[in-house]
Amino acid sequence: MFDKILIANRGEIALRILRAAKELGIATVAVHSTADAHAMHVKLADESVCIGPPPARDSYLNIPALLAACEITGAEALHPGYGFLSENARFAEILMDHHITFIGPKPEHIRLMGDKIAAKSTALRLGIPCVPGSPGAITSDTEALSVGRALGFPVLVKAAAGGGGRGMKVARTAQELPSALETARAEAKSAFGDDSVYLEKYLERPRHIEIQILGDGHGKAIHLGDRDCSLQRRNQKVWEESPSPALNAPQRQEIGEICAAAMRELGYAGAGTIEFLYEDSKFYFIEMNTRIQVEHPVTEMITGVDLVNEQIRIAAGSPLTLTQDEVVFNGHAIECRINAEDAATFRPSPGKIAYYHPPGGLGVRVDSAVYAGYTIPPNYDSLVGKLIVHGRNRNEALMRLRRALDEFIVDGIDTTIPLFQTLVRNPDMQNGLYDIHWLERFLELGGMDGADI
Ligand code: ADP
Repeated sequence: MFDKILIANRGEIALRILRAAKELGIATVAVHSTADAHAMHVKLADESVCIGPPPARDSYLNIPALLAACEITGAEALHPGYGFLSENARFAEILMDHHITFIGPKPEHIRLMGDKIAAKSTALRLGIPCVPGSPGAITSDTEALSVGRALGFPVLVKAAAGGGGRGMKVARTAQELPSALETARAEAKSAFGDDSVYLEKYLERPRHIEIQILGDGHGKAIHLGDRDCSLQRRNQKVWEESPSPALNAPQRQEIGEICAAAMRELGYAGAGTIEFLYEDSKFYFIEMNTRIQVEHPVTEMITGVDLVNEQIRIAAGSPLTLTQDEVVFNGHAIECRINAEDAATFRPSPGKIAYYHPPGGLGVRVDSAVYAGYTIPPNYDSLVGKLIVHGRNRNEALMRLRRALDEFIVDGIDTTIPLFQTLVRNPDMQNGLYDIHWLERFLELGGMDGADI
């Protein structure tokens, strides 16, 4: 096991990693930008190193500064968290060259899953169900048209180098296809410097369901069930839960086993998430994330498995702590991502937190790095914290969520707590009847207008 690790991140995930490291008896090094000198992860780490000015490209993405911080402190391994350098295969290789362990998958797997077309063809080869589409990049409008006709309209034009939903256009009919191709190519070119696009069948009202997996890098892999992340705004997940209200136990078992078997075949190391769209009882692979995800706590709450602890152990060469048979799913968990934003307009609201009172009690977990008197800097994402509740069943989790939200006080800035107070009382949400477009429809129809809780 490592004696000391460096945490190359900030905010709640830096704290989350620090907690896992402390419980493993590992010393921690925090890094921070000048904007984060007073951040909680800096206060709680054993050591800290300032790695640059506020812009992420000069600090949290500054590879030479991170290498120097490892060197100065003698950290043997680095945990990248999520975002920033977590899915940068080159960074993982550079660390290896400097004899620092990257707490994450092998660089070749990060690279493979970072390329959408390669990821999809790998998924198909490994027996993971995919959205029907063009076998690779589209080379001409004529090819696009014949693929589109074969798939049946509507189709989705997607950027091969895509991310964050950019470079994506729906063509409802064959007539719409040329302009959809042109717009997607132009967007892809300007966002990613690569205008290659491919085609997929457009699913009208899917849910987003993902499978958490853990692999030891030597051919052992298990799954830890599913998460339903269908509640999204602008492709950003807002509310996540496990298990999905849309699946039954045999469906969950089947897709989980398909994913675990695929990861065994790949020799995947560490934590990963295989994301699917789910419609009419069928799963369609969209991508794999080769890192810990924001929504990992809902899985931890129903399995009792500390995923970050597992990531660190696997990186240190230890075997998985449990077999598939030992994974027991218990009850239901829901996570709300609470942002420093106006709950109706989503206008960012950075600033000083005057008073902070997180909820507590049985089955309530708050993963946050803020405190009273802390000023949220405007330079990074607007996540204030994640409220996660666990109940013996979905209904108990919903009632607990309602109670915990009503207890949560964050004064001095606007937060999205009122949005969740409205959602938890909504009949569709209570019945689990929502797809990936539900939240945007709800907001367009004025669901938050005049909300006063
Ligand atoms: P990105 O990497 O840009 O986020 P994804 O492939 O993950 O791209 O897709 C982003 C989102 O776009 C998905 O979460 C889903 O909401 C929607 N989407 C992707 N593919 C399809 C599809 N074939 N049909 C309908 N919606 C899709």
